[in-house]
Parts: sequence; structure tokens; C-alpha cells
Amino acid sequence: MKAYLIETPNQGKVCELPVPELGEDEVLIEVAAAGVCGTDVHIFKGEYFGGYPRVPGHEFCGTIVKKGSKANLFQIGQFVTADPNIFCESCDACKQNHQNFCQNFQAAGVSRHGAFAQFVAIPERCVFDISGFTPEEGAMVEPLACVVYGQERAGVPLGGNVLIFGAGPIGLMHLQLALQNGAAAVTVVDLFPHKLALAKQLGASFTYTSEEWSACGKKNYYELVIDTTGVPKAVEPQISYVKDAGTWLIFGVCPENSQISINPYEIFRRELKIVGSYALKKTFGKAIALIRNKKINLEILADNRLTLSEVNDFFLSPGSHLKTLVYPNRE
Ligand SMILES: [Zn+2]
Ligand SMILES: [Zn+2]
Repeated sequence: MKAYLIETPNQGKVCELPVPELGEDEVLIEVAAAGVCGTDVHIFKGEYFGGYPRVPGHEFCGTIVKKGSKANLFQIGQFVTADPNIFCESCDACKQNHQNFCQNFQAAGVSRHGAFAQFVAIPERCVFDISGFTPEEGAMVEPLACVVYGQERAGVPLGGNVLIFGAGPIGLMHLQLALQNGAAAVTVVDLFPHKLALAKQLGASFTYTSEEWSACGKKNYYELVIDTTGVPKAVEPQISYVKDAGTWLIFGVCPENSQISINPYEIFRRELKIVGSYALKKTFGKAIALIRNKKINLEILADNRLTLSEVNDFFLSPGSHLKTLVYPNRE
């Protein structure tokens, strides 16, 4: 099969690999579409654990074409997506229902080969039916499931004001989900006016370019502030916008060794809650239900479509697209 393989950091190419061998509890999926996420760019640059050589791609959907001897929950031909995170369910973390910290954690596209390939293998227990979804929707279940998990962790106050930094695909998913969760108004800040226009279209009450925001941002006003930028310089001042007794959700992935400075007295005096959200845990079903019932518009986020042979150029120069999708079985 054709696959895009990252051989060593910053070195990738399309090559011919054997179709993955199936474990007895695994299914083989012919990939319809796979999303490119910030994590893939980090893997390409060698900034993320997982090891090389690696076929990236942890956000994907496709058709089941083969099943292991003990895989019997799904049918050949069924259109599915899969949670790329493979938890052991028997370590200490899993037993305490903190599966995203599984000590034997494996993830398709991170620690084993993923979906930037014609076929991907995954244990059947990770698979979800998404019949009727478009390939684009199917490939964006995973990031939406991460967003659902983040908002579950942070809690969205009914009737509250929510502030989101970043109008990329993740920021725009947070926006739509916060409205579903009962936010009274969502404000979105981003560098790019065209992304803010889309935020408005998707229901943002107020949008600001970063420049406008530095002049008029409202301090101590938002019950929930969400960072999706992962840029330490952008993250640092965000605490001042959180309302007394409010919550700050750190969702964007900052570089591993980055530092910001915050005033602990402010956290104490204003009773601030700082919440992290790492990957996802058991939120695939909710994400699928939200998409199936048209509560979240994902189609509109897909603005860059690649074949396998175009992936390497994309990694070398990602540009400022919203969601980039790879179609490994298209020429
Ligand atoms: Zn991702
Ligand atoms: Zn475990």
C-alpha cells in the first residue's frame, strides 16, 4: 500500500509499505479521509514522543475491509471512525478511569502507524459506526471528541461569557460547542480577519483581531477563557480576562519546555481555576451524536484537501489553513 512515512524528524516521503497485519481483535480500515492536526506537525518536526519511522494520522475514517479472527462487532463494508487512543484498561491509571494516562498507552499515528496510508489497523474496541457521515465529518470526530472532553473538564457556565483565543478548527469547534453548552455569548480572538468572519458565521457574538483585542480586551469578565493557540506569549496574559471565580482552560499545546509567568496571589485572591485537558477519554460517542444531529458544523472547517504526494510539501510549509485533510486513496 502507499503511505506517507516520517523516516526521521523533518524527513518524510510517500513509500510502499506492507498492508498492516491484523491482530485477532483488530479491523483493517480503508482510509477515506484523515485530518492533519498540530500534533502531526510536532511529530514531523521531532517535537513529540512516539518514535520513528512513523506513518502519522490519528484522525481518520473509512470502510472496514478485513477483520481479525475475534473481531465480530462490525461488518465488512461498514463506514467507521476510531478512537486512535488504545488503552490497556488494566493498569493503575485505566482502573481509576484516567485512561488518557494509561501506562501502556498506544496511539495510531503516534506510537504505531496511522492513517496517512491507504489502510490502517485498529482494535475493534476503538471503532465507532458513522454511517451517513461525509469523509470530512468522519475525519473530524476525533478533534471534536477532544473539544468535548476539554469542555467537560472545564465546565461551561449556563448563561456565561466565554472567551476563546484562536479561530482555527479547534477554536471554532470550541465556539460551537460552548453555544450548545449554554454560553450566553462567545467572544473569539485571532490574528486573521477571515477566520474571525467564519467565527461570526458560526455564532460568535464578538470577534477581535489580536491587535484590536490588546486595545480593548475586557479584564475580569469571562467565566471561561479557553486557549487554543498553544503560543506561550499569547497564553500568558489570558489569566487577566478570567472573571473572579472563573476558569481558564489550557487546551492549545505549548512547546514542552515553555514557561509563562503568572501571579499566584491572583489565583488565590480571585479563586481562579486553571484546567488542563489532555487528548480525550470516552467522548467519541458524544462527538458522533453531536455531528449526527447537526449540532456542530464541521464541513465548513475543511478548506485544504491533499493527496498523499502533497503531504510532505504541506509539512514543510503548513500555511494558515483551517482544517487540512488527506485522502490517501485518491490520486
Ligand atoms: Zn489531533
Ligand atoms: Zn492502561
